[in-house]
Amino acid sequence: MKLLPDQSVASNLRADRNTIYIQRRHHTGFSTGVNKADEYSWFFLLALSGTKNESITLLANMSQADIPTLTRNNSLLFYSTDQINWRRLAVPVLTDSAGLKQYATFILPVTGTCYISNTIFYDYSYLDDYFASFVARHTAYCQKTTIGTSLQNRPLRLLTLSNNANPLDRILLTTGCHPAEPDVIASQAIIDWLVSPPGLKLLTRYQVDVLPLSNPDGFANRSCLTSNGINLYWNFMKDDQKKCPEAFYLWRYILNPPPLLYLDFHSYVHQYHRHPMPYLKDTIAYRGAFTKHIVKQMDRYLIKQSRGFYRFGKLAMWPDSLSRHITQQFNTISYTKYHFNLYEGIPASQTRAVNIFIGLTKLLLRQSINHQHILLAPHGHAILDHSDRWPFTWFYYLPQLLSKSYMFGKSYWRYYRHRNQSHLFR
Ligand SMILES: [Zn+2]
Repeated sequence: MKLLPDQSVASNLRADRNTIYIQRRHHTGFSTGVNKADEYSWFFLLALSGTKNESITLLANMSQADIPTLTRNNSLLFYSTDQINWRRLAVPVLTDSAGLKQYATFILPVTGTCYISNTIFYDYSYLDDYFASFVARHTAYCQKTTIGTSLQNRPLRLLTLSNNANPLDRILLTTGCHPAEPDVIASQAIIDWLVSPPGLKLLTRYQVDVLPLSNPDGFANRSCLTSNGINLYWNFMKDDQKKCPEAFYLWRYILNPPPLLYLDFHSYVHQYHRHPMPYLKDTIAYRGAFTKHIVKQMDRYLIKQSRGFYRFGKLAMWPDSLSRHITQQFNTISYTKYHFNLYEGIPASQTRAVNIFIGLTKLLLRQSINHQHILLAPHGHAILDHSDRWPFTWFYYLPQLLSKSYMFGKSYWRYYRHRNQSHLFR
């Protein structure tokens, strides 16, 4: 077995016979704003060349002395020969309580170059070609536009799917914000569904814009941040063309005209104790009783899809996120950071993404909802009404307070009860 450091993502990589020590790479955050550079530097990609059936021991972010301190079997390993097709290495991966130290022994599944990672990191040019060839195969319903370029001059390619020259409205979908989270599988599954007969029916009413790789430099550089260290989710610098063109061009595209609904997917890749779930904004973040009514229906649908789990509060209403800007400025209904859990596997996560898309758009279709109903002037007719004023606001605050207390209690109780005895990882 031979290590291939040039193709690996690690700050330190060495081998002692067939025991490999790998240390994750720390990515540097941008000087201003919240970029969470350390939190988003949890992954590694190990490249090696070996022989099938060789036994390998992998110690990630730890030494031999740490082995007795590992308490949990709570991580996953994936392998690939091309960084396109990834499969799970079905072995226990022991971790510390934070999940950062990882320890596994496995049999090398292939001969030749093999990539091993604690996530699924797709090759950038493969993904870029994948979406270009999708457009080429579906020219009747799908167009490709380059809305701008990233800081390192990679195109920001947007797919527009439509089956009607005058659609009722438009929906925006983004993925690939944090490239180490393989949420781009959501874009792949949803566009496939959109060109199937039921999807084409939806496209006769709504146009769907998809930005599958919102951070192309991150894919190419193997980082969750942009090439200058900006975390596009937490620090969406929409007005800075020079430092954050990725945000600037997307925002400029959003301006004409703003979408009715905005969806964005992410993936848990090391927090496997978390059920796949949405981040939900408070209903009171939307203006007008009708918009709130639709949002509550959508929230309920997403919570049901996620077996009662959801996240809320400040993380779901982050002041510098696109999700917040788009709702505050236009009243666009936005669901960002729906998180998959990689433990479910790719096919189940893709089915989940399609079901979410179908469920949310069904609610729009049923009532033929368009921007006039939802968006603020000049894009629509939504206005501040009684639902935005005290004491009616309590109708929204009180049930939220109760359901939040219940959710908090329930999720923490479950977490503490099961933290060391998860049935998932046996
Ligand atoms: Zn993410």
